[in-house]
Amino acid sequence: MRFETIAIHAGDRPDAATGAISVPIYQTSTFKFEDVGKTKGWDYSRAANPTRKVLEDTIAQLEGGKAGFAFATGMAAETTVMHLLKTGDHVISQDDIYGGTYRLFQDVMPAFGLEFTFLRMDDRKRIEEAIKPNTRMLWLETPSNPLLNIVDIEMVVDIARKHKLLTVVDNTFATPYFFRPIEYGVDLVVHSTTKYLNGHADVVGGAVVTTTDESSQKMQYLLNALGTNAAPFDCWLVLRGIQTLPVRMKQHEENAFAVANYLKGHPRVKRVLYPGLESHKGHEIARRQMKGFAGIVSFEPEGGIEGVNTFLRKLKVFALAGSLGDVTSLAEHPATMSHDSMSPDYRRKVGLSDELIRLSVGLENVDDLIEDIEQALIV
Ligand SMILES: *Cc1c(COP(=O)(O)O)cnc(C)c1O
Repeated sequence: MRFETIAIHAGDRPDAATGAISVPIYQTSTFKFEDVGKTKGWDYSRAANPTRKVLEDTIAQLEGGKAGFAFATGMAAETTVMHLLKTGDHVISQDDIYGGTYRLFQDVMPAFGLEFTFLRMDDRKRIEEAIKPNTRMLWLETPSNPLLNIVDIEMVVDIARKHKLLTVVDNTFATPYFFRPIEYGVDLVVHSTTKYLNGHADVVGGAVVTTTDESSQKMQYLLNALGTNAAPFDCWLVLRGIQTLPVRMKQHEENAFAVANYLKGHPRVKRVLYPGLESHKGHEIARRQMKGFAGIVSFEPEGGIEGVNTFLRKLKVFALAGSLGDVTSLAEHPATMSHDSMSPDYRRKVGLSDELIRLSVGLENVDDLIEDIEQALIV
């Protein structure tokens, strides 16, 4: 089956028990045993739930992986992945990543004996020099949040294979519609399903896709042991969202291209970041490894912090809000919102200026979006 068909049909659909076309919400904590020691395949919803299973199978198939796992949030998914490691292990993480991921790696996990090095993942030599005897994992985010840097996935997977490191890609920004890391040999894919996969700003959720029987068994064990699983109703919402993922992603990209091109030519705009633009430094790699560039555009207006604040206050269609990937257009200020977990020094080091604005270009009429940006840029 092809992507669009998988998005609508994957997993146990129509429901085998009833024929229901819409996946039933199995809102139950527990399941009656048929006999002592004999279940109908389900025993307790933390371990497994039929609604969640359809979502897990769907995301696994969309990513081309072995098995999928649905979590309460993207951070719950990441926290669970970190438990594949043990005290003394070292992780090399991309330096420009989602602020919550940075917080988990920088502030939380080191207390459990994990060690992290944050690096820009654009140089083979720099990555190889950072590898130590206890290095176990490479953590990547491409395009990155909010700088939209692109990682050359073939280069990184090649390094990982040579040094026997586990590779993890946070595929939240591109979604499997535009980028399928597993096809390049990545071991684990992580998602915040809160964003494009759900797409309607009405749920927080996360997912992991594995590629081997061994990692699938470990993830299932950890999900159940840690209790980081998603709830049935949330899974149902994400399933509903995924059915329209292909059409949404196409339109997000079309609208984002129009917004990026508009901003690029604007005299009151200093810098535009969108991987679809030829001027973007990761454009060639993005074109090679992705089918499209998705819907996030970051930019810096003229006028310093005052210019940023004025722009954000004047927006009428774009909402000033965290999150991204929704049908609704959102504008966000990484330095004070999604990336406030990074110190000013660290932000400066990775090139995240206080003047950067991140736009999640939604599915409204693009002329309305551009007119909104236009009136907000006038001082
Ligand atoms: C939002 C986000 C996360 C965290 O997901 P939550 O669902 O908010 O916990 C992780 N990675 C990226 C790239 C994100 O944008």
